[in-house]
Amino acid sequence: MVISRDDVLNWVRNCADIIAQNRGYLIELDSNIGDGDHGENMHRGFQAILNILPDITGNDIGSIFKAIGFTLVSTVGGASGPLYGTFFIQMGIVTIGKDELNIADWLAALKAGVKGIMIRGKAQAGNKTMLDSLIPAADVLDKAWLSNMSLDNALVESANAAEQGMRDTIPLIARKGRASYLGERSVGHQDPGATSSSLLLRAAANTWIKQK
Ligand code: ADP
Ligand code: MG
Repeated sequence: MVISRDDVLNWVRNCADIIAQNRGYLIELDSNIGDGDHGENMHRGFQAILNILPDITGNDIGSIFKAIGFTLVSTVGGASGPLYGTFFIQMGIVTIGKDELNIADWLAALKAGVKGIMIRGKAQAGNKTMLDSLIPAADVLDKAWLSNMSLDNALVESANAAEQGMRDTIPLIARKGRASYLGERSVGHQDPGATSSSLLLRAAANTWIKQK
């Protein structure tokens, strides 16, 4: 079972939907430990992506990811724009020329995206950032691939791991980004970026699972 170019485009549309639905929630989370703009930032970025989508629907998957990344970098302010932009650009680099992705391709893309965020933002696991949902999602996908799990099950387990990672940010002290200015006062709050990352991976599972 593979992820086609249309599947990728549908994922992006569903990401825009899920971000629009959770705009207020992400704003609320970012108001607790940041400046309250994360929901608006993500919503603006994904609306801009929807606008360019008609121009890139015929491209290969790597080019689609890269165009999405450049759009996020140029339209989203704050820390999350360049970081999510890098995530999609790096995913695009490793999937360039591909018209479909198997589980190994998707794993390679996710790993490259995560590495890009780590290099760009100089953050690691446990710093209370988007990486705390993305890293577990990639790790679980890696194990799923090694154990020959079906793509459907792997996507669900990966999204579940992201959601657990998101919840696990609550007791952490923020070490990067705006929330780190709060030090210990950041404890007890869920990280907004880990939350948006979890939403994007849940959208991937929901979009790509082929129920027959
Ligand atoms: P800003 O913090 O500039 O207002 P956003 O509110 O849009 O930007 O995004 C905040 C999110 O960005 C945080 O919740 C965190 O997950 C993520 N983030 C911030 N700095 C980093 C970093 N250095 N590495 C990874 N993620 C980061
Ligand atoms: Mg913010």
